[in-house]
Amino acid sequence: VGGDPLRIISQMRWQEPTRHLPLLTMGREPNMPRLLKALELGVNDYLVKPVDPNELLARVRTQVRRRRFQLRLLANREASLTMALTDGLTGLFNRHYFTSHFAGLFRHAQEQGRPISVMMLDVDHFKSVNDSYGHAAGDQVLQGLARCISGSVRNFDLVARLGGEEFVIVMPEARLQEAARAAERIRAQVAATPLLLTSRSVAPLSATGAAAAPELRLPVTVSIGVAAIDGPGDTVEDMLRRADMALYEAKRSGRNRVVLAREAPHANGAGR
Ligand code: GH3
Ligand code: MG
Ligand code: MG
Repeated sequence: VGGDPLRIISQMRWQEPTRHLPLLTMGREPNMPRLLKALELGVNDYLVKPVDPNELLARVRTQVRRRRFQLRLLANREASLTMALTDGLTGLFNRHYFTSHFAGLFRHAQEQGRPISVMMLDVDHFKSVNDSYGHAAGDQVLQGLARCISGSVRNFDLVARLGGEEFVIVMPEARLQEAARAAERIRAQVAATPLLLTSRSVAPLSATGAAAAPELRLPVTVSIGVAAIDGPGDTVEDMLRRADMALYEAKRSGRNRVVLAREAPHANGAGR
């Protein structure tokens, strides 16, 4: 390698692939100003010639170990950041993320006088999926459902699993009627797509169950309640309560359907 070592060090620290690569320098005698410059540029360690091979080995090992440790820390941090925001089963955002993020989206919409809608979605008779095919099959249904929902919404819609078999979808910029159309699309899509259970997860609890079938396509339906922001007096809690009440109404009136929330009480001056 030709060229001024200080220049090479500097280049290596500038270029992305070598930016964090451990660097050791060797010199015949300690030239203090240049050595200090090298350390300043990011050299990790230095050796003075003649170099004892054992010492070289030990110093290299130390640097490699340090770098590996650093990489592990970074990977762990990334993993725990992801875990804090998402649901391990479906990869969707979790309740914690939804709660903190929705408040911001709601406030923004309210301040700008923009529409925003929310859907509450709950799987119909999900308990019977678990009861008939086992918990692992139920998990697979939830995963398939998460994919189905994510595939039916816009990129900037926020999809989260609130827990159990309950999902929420936030649609910024959508008025009630637009959100209702989207909800109906999701409902129809889910109802038309029997979810595939692989044999691995299907564990029939009875001897006469689906043991012989290598895989199973299970029809699943969902009920959805939809609510939209309702004027400057509306609150996050109110809007979610209206969506929840609409969902309850969808269940009560037969399931596999979409119900729109009534307007907030304050909208017609009724007060609270
Ligand atoms: P409904 O149509 O009224 O919503 O009936 P449902 O059976 O879906 O409602 P219910 O709330 O009674 O049952 C929800 C079930 O979801 C209960 C529980 O066993 C199951 N469950 C909750 N979380 C999970 C999960 O992470 N994995 C699996 N496999 N099942 C879950
Ligand atoms: Mg439920
Ligand atoms: Mg349910």
